[in-house]
Amino acid sequence: MTFKSGNPEVFRLLGEHAGVGLWDCLVVDGDPLGPDSFWSWSSEYRRLTGVTMDEMPDGVRPRGHRYHPDDAEAATAAFLNAVADSGTISRYDINFRMLHGDGAYRWFRAIGNVTHDAAGIATRICGVLIDVHESETAAELQRHANREVERLAQAHAASQERFRQIAATSPDAIVCTDKNGIITFWNDAATRGIGFTAREMIARNILTLVPPDMRSASHHLRRQLMESGKVHELDALHRDGRRISIDISLSTWFEDGEPCFGFIGRDASERKAKEALLADLARRDPLTELPNRAALDYWIEARLAEGSPFCVLMVDLDGFKEVNDTFGHEAGDAALKIAAERMAACLRDGDLLARFGGDEFGIVLTDGDESRAASVAGAVIRTVSLPMEIETMQVAIGASVGIAVAPRDGRHAAALLSAADVALYASKKGGRGCFHRFTPQLRQRAVFNDAIQCQLRRAVSNGEFELFYQPQYHICDHRMIGAEALLRWRHPREGLIAPDSFLPSLERSVFVSHVGDIVLEKACRQAANWRGLAPDFRMAVNLFAVQLRDRTFPGRVSAILAWHGLPAAALELELPETLRLHMTADMTAVLSELTEMGVGIALDDFGTGHASLSHLQHIPLTRLKIDRSFVQGMMSSTVDAAAVEAILLIGRRLGASVVAEGIETQEQEEQLLMDGCSVGQGYLFGRPMPASDFAARFLSQSRGHSPSDRPTESILGAENHAARPGSGQLPSSCPALDARSLFQ
Ligand code: C2E
Ligand code: CA
Ligand code: CA
Repeated sequence: MTFKSGNPEVFRLLGEHAGVGLWDCLVVDGDPLGPDSFWSWSSEYRRLTGVTMDEMPDGVRPRGHRYHPDDAEAATAAFLNAVADSGTISRYDINFRMLHGDGAYRWFRAIGNVTHDAAGIATRICGVLIDVHESETAAELQRHANREVERLAQAHAASQERFRQIAATSPDAIVCTDKNGIITFWNDAATRGIGFTAREMIARNILTLVPPDMRSASHHLRRQLMESGKVHELDALHRDGRRISIDISLSTWFEDGEPCFGFIGRDASERKAKEALLADLARRDPLTELPNRAALDYWIEARLAEGSPFCVLMVDLDGFKEVNDTFGHEAGDAALKIAAERMAACLRDGDLLARFGGDEFGIVLTDGDESRAASVAGAVIRTVSLPMEIETMQVAIGASVGIAVAPRDGRHAAALLSAADVALYASKKGGRGCFHRFTPQLRQRAVFNDAIQCQLRRAVSNGEFELFYQPQYHICDHRMIGAEALLRWRHPREGLIAPDSFLPSLERSVFVSHVGDIVLEKACRQAANWRGLAPDFRMAVNLFAVQLRDRTFPGRVSAILAWHGLPAAALELELPETLRLHMTADMTAVLSELTEMGVGIALDDFGTGHASLSHLQHIPLTRLKIDRSFVQGMMSSTVDAAAVEAILLIGRRLGASVVAEGIETQEQEEQLLMDGCSVGQGYLFGRPMPASDFAARFLSQSRGHSPSDRPTESILGAENHAARPGSGQLPSSCPALDARSLFQ
């Protein structure tokens, strides 16, 4: 090492001082980096920088490119500034990273003194280089940490601010506490909900909001809140002393290593009101706004639990279905509402009126006074039966009522309502528009009815139903012209049962329409069979109400006729009086379709009902059947005799032929002949009988038997012949009926 200036020994000593590298530069022409300026480096300098003598021999100017790219500019600038400075001695002191000989950057500190001549030109620069890598790295880390802390602090401040803004506009109360429950944050919604301001609440314990009786459980509550992470309903004290109910969810986090809590709360009263509304809706019939069946059950159970007697009334509207069918559902709805209002007017405070759905209502009276129950039932029937004006139309419905008394008639809502229902059923059967009290005997009857339904079902599937046939005769020449098909039930135990005993049950059953179709098909099959012997033979078949309510019925009739090759004129459908009372436009349309096809329509039991004669104009008909009560009374009662004459007159006016039913005596027959009645039916000509008997008696000889003819043998065995599947020329059943084999 050669030193061109200064004290070389000192330089050497200093140069060998561990950890301090020395350098010296004789500046020529004021430019330390110029080609003539001379640089020299101590051995320690070389050791510190890891640069060998070969790589950096004395005299060579420092290689700037060894600086770390991030530090090169600052380090070079500090050096050049000091050189350019015109002071006698300028100093620079910089930290920078420089590439070590081992290939890694290390931190160094360079302190340099620049000597200038009088003209301010740099003449010499010497300095020391200290390895500060360890300390500088630590410092850098520290700086980095500081920057991060600062950034976090800013982020924290920003998020605090954002939090505050969100919290301020939140509809939910947001309250934060420290680990001791001291409130640190309180938003506006909390003020709105709880009444206290942030100023009043900050630094107060959140427990002061908990009602005193709940404070002891507050730890448990908090644990519960935290564990489930769900919303809990809790009570809180409002500033005005009210106890309010709040839905609360709790969140927790750490600040400065300490847990903090955030309570987000919402007034639960709105939710509760909504829930109550929903619950109420679920218990309310939307049309009448009366409590529904579920509410009634609930109410009855609650009353039963109290133990004191009370009465339950079950009300069923009579004729409501007809209103619905005739005037449409809107009118039906209006009728229900009017009926509900009228019924409500019959009740006292504390009584309950509920709608079961459909046209059924339930009433729970406050007490067990049966005479009051009877008078309420009477009032309900009277008021509901008053005419209703619905959109300029006059609508008439009625009501039937059943009464049960709790707890005598039932200890549960279901049992009690079932008892009232049994009593109601008795009212319906007893002619409607009346009320019955429940008795155990009625229950027995109901049980019997249930049993009958069950047995009817079996009868349908076992084919226990049969058709009997009763002849119809031309009175003047005693010519058999056809028959009425009459239903019989051949009960396996009870034997043959007449229709009056089972028809009401059958008509209430779900399979009545099915039975009606089968009767029709079987009667048509029989008619087709018998027309082989009596070509003009006409079969009369009784209609069920459901068949007339079914718009597809005419289509099925047509299919059955076609299947059996029968002309429409060979069939006459009998319309009972009860049906005529409640004729709807749809039912009239069905009848019109049938008459247009050529099927005869006979009004059965004519003269017994209350249907006005003006009603007849709207019903397409071809025949009237004088009810047998008039025929049976006509010889002794002038009224009945006049009725027969009147019916014959009406028939003539309407262009309909008339059949007299129930002719039992010769006198009756003669009188009817004199009155101008041409066709008759009754025991005089023949009782209803099985097909085989009928065929044997009335079809074994040529047409036109007198009732005194008593053929002994059947020439056809028609019933058996026709009923046996595949055995006759005619198929056993019509595919229009889905090959149902109920009567096989
Ligand atoms: P209905 O249609 O008026 O039938 C005539 C009823 O009078 C038959 O009673 C018949 O046996 C009876 N009868 C006939 N001639 C005389 C007589 O000279 N004197 C007396 N005292 N009675 C006579 P049945 O067969 O018991 O039928 C009763 C009612 O059952 C029928 O009255 C009819 O409304 C209904 N019904 C019968 N079969 C069917 C059916 O297949 N479908 C429907 N929907 N109803 C039916
Ligand atoms: Ca009839
Ligand atoms: Ca009749």
